Amino acid sequence: MKPLRQILVVEDNALNRAMLCEILAERYAVLEAKNGQEALEILRTGSGEISLILLDIVMPVMDGYTFLDIVKADPVLSLIPVIVMTQSDSENAEITALSHGATDFLLKPYRPQIILHRIASIIHLRETAAIVNQLQYDRLTGLYTREYFYQRVREVLQENPDREYSIVSSNIENFKLYNDVFGTAAGDQLLRMLADGLRRRVGENAVCGRYSADRFVFLQERHEERENRQRLMEIQQSRHLYRVKNAVMRWGIYEIYDRNLAVEHMCDRALLAADSIKGQYNEIFAVYDDTLRHKLLRERMITDTMEAALAENQFVVYFQPKYSLRGNVLAGAEALVRWNHPQLGFITPGEFIPLFEKSGFITRLDHYVWDRVCAQLKDWHEKGYDALPVSVNVSRADIFQIDLPDILLQTVEKYGVAPAQLHLEITESAYTEDPDQIIQTVNQLRELGFVIELDDFGSGYSSLNMIGRMNLDVLKLDMKFIQSETAMQSEQGILRFVVELANRMNLRVVAEGVETKEQLERLREIGCDYAQGYFFAEPMSSYEFEMLSQNRAKARADDLPSLTETTEKLLIVEEDPWSRELIRRAFAEQYTLLETDSAEHALAYLADPAQSIAAVILSATLPSHVSLDLLDTIRRDSKTQKLPVLVTMPPQPKLTEQVMKWDVDDVAYRPRDPLCVLCLRERLDRMRMRAPHTNVEPD
Ligand code: C2E
Ligand code: CA
Ligand code: CA
Repeated sequence: MKPLRQILVVEDNALNRAMLCEILAERYAVLEAKNGQEALEILRTGSGEISLILLDIVMPVMDGYTFLDIVKADPVLSLIPVIVMTQSDSENAEITALSHGATDFLLKPYRPQIILHRIASIIHLRETAAIVNQLQYDRLTGLYTREYFYQRVREVLQENPDREYSIVSSNIENFKLYNDVFGTAAGDQLLRMLADGLRRRVGENAVCGRYSADRFVFLQERHEERENRQRLMEIQQSRHLYRVKNAVMRWGIYEIYDRNLAVEHMCDRALLAADSIKGQYNEIFAVYDDTLRHKLLRERMITDTMEAALAENQFVVYFQPKYSLRGNVLAGAEALVRWNHPQLGFITPGEFIPLFEKSGFITRLDHYVWDRVCAQLKDWHEKGYDALPVSVNVSRADIFQIDLPDILLQTVEKYGVAPAQLHLEITESAYTEDPDQIIQTVNQLRELGFVIELDDFGSGYSSLNMIGRMNLDVLKLDMKFIQSETAMQSEQGILRFVVELANRMNLRVVAEGVETKEQLERLREIGCDYAQGYFFAEPMSSYEFEMLSQNRAKARADDLPSLTETTEKLLIVEEDPWSRELIRRAFAEQYTLLETDSAEHALAYLADPAQSIAAVILSATLPSHVSLDLLDTIRRDSKTQKLPVLVTMPPQPKLTEQVMKWDVDDVAYRPRDPLCVLCLRERLDRMRMRAPHTNVEPD
């Protein structure tokens, strides 16, 4: 049996209500409300579809007219027919009821046959009309449905052959996110407000439709660019929309020159135009034209061929050298992918990476790049070259993969590469989405031994907060930041501050996009550790990079003579683990480190001619007071007597006094704080620049 239709009776008089219920009960399910307020609650909590409302006018709390006004203003509720029941037989009451939107009226006292008859015929009429309506109007917004919109556009175009039109489509940026954050009800509310704003702005006989969940389309007479902008701005800023935070609209316009094109396709093009400016914060609309068409075709070509390209090894990894600004030595490289496309030629990642990020394909490409880089590192290792670290890019999509640490670990293990040789560049914007998960993943990666670089720092999403919460090794300054900062006076700008901060937090600093000598000098003066950019070299093939690293004189920086030096060795004799860690971090990139806490081992290193040590950092407090003995041995041996030795010690006045008498090149307090490490580096640099040690045999 079909469920009974529901009728809502709104009437404050209990006796009247009971009478109506009795009359209706045989054919309908009856819901009761004592006033307009209660009735609204019933309608809004939606206890099934209501076929008709019987409404009394004079009621406490909320009277019938107020109730009617509210119901009629709602695009969905207004579809329910309302019969007003009036006591008086004056014509006035009827007219007032009808002018408030009532469908019909009944006079009290009630006559059962008339009531039932009228209700039945109104419901029948409504339901037949509703079927048509349902196809024509979108239930949520009251705009045309997609199909009916197409039909209306066809009609308007036919009826007005002399007028020129365009189709405009909208797209709400991040609507999905809005729904997720504020809930579907809020999302629906937003859509209704947008539809309202649209209806009001586009005008009386507007042809406006809801194309899909969060996309609207409307037909308008063709306008000039300036007017388009003006009108769309107005819609955007209309009272209804401007209250809605976070909802950014993008509009796409298709100008109808070819009336034979199916309206569906016209809409598609308007939508494509809207999508083409997604995320571009200063654009509100785009017009579909040939440029856009070509761009879209090219994008389609790119996404259609990416799978095959991966299978056929069309992606090639390039390497851009990175230099240490202290020793002026080649210190590593960043791996940057290129696509050697059979039809489109050589494509740069700036074009395809954003598309891959959208489709999720980026994770597969990244895995491929990491694999190729590790294979290359293995190859260089087998050829006996120095192990230079290579940085790879880790896109934000990768970070959200639960098994990222496993994948990376498997890749390095497959080729026997040490995790520390693979630096991971993670973009800063990736950190803002789900901080806790990212922090956890990054910490995990770092524990596995990977070196973590924060990429593109200063590019606009700067979150100093995150730097403090995460275990990082390297801060990579964005090239835009470098270029704008180095264009300023040294005292202005925040570059110096950022570098100091990084040093204080024990982070090494890499500047990318260094193009001029002036920029380089400034960075060096500020205390930046590494630089990468066209001034040194552009990204190059693995073969070229191999040649470069084998013959470093080829580096473009001819005026940096020491670029040709190979990594030197530094002997660290230190018993305190924390100090050793800090010293290690200070010098690991510039030198190959030999570490020990035993004087015996230190002597063994020094005696080994293969080691050719460049300098020694010696703790003054080695166990059993052997520090001075070790120093004396170094000074007595002709092979080591000229070796620069820097002694570190805890800040104790007595000890300091003693050590000052030793035959050393310099002394420094034992590093406790990353800041001390800075001065340690400076001392060692200065010490090594001075003439080699000459006071053999003290006393
Ligand atoms: P990025 O990570 O910021 O890489 C630096 C980009 O700046 C590279 O562009 C590089 O060629 C360019 N560049 C280097 N030095 C200079 C300079 O002195 N001046 C100027 N103007 N530019 C310089 P490229 O190779 O076109 O890469 C663009 C972006 O594509 C990269 O930006 C990175 O975000 C992304 N990308 C590249 N390869 C990969 C990859 O394998 N995986 C992922 N996920 N992203 C990648
Ligand atoms: Ca990068
Ligand atoms: Ca970068």
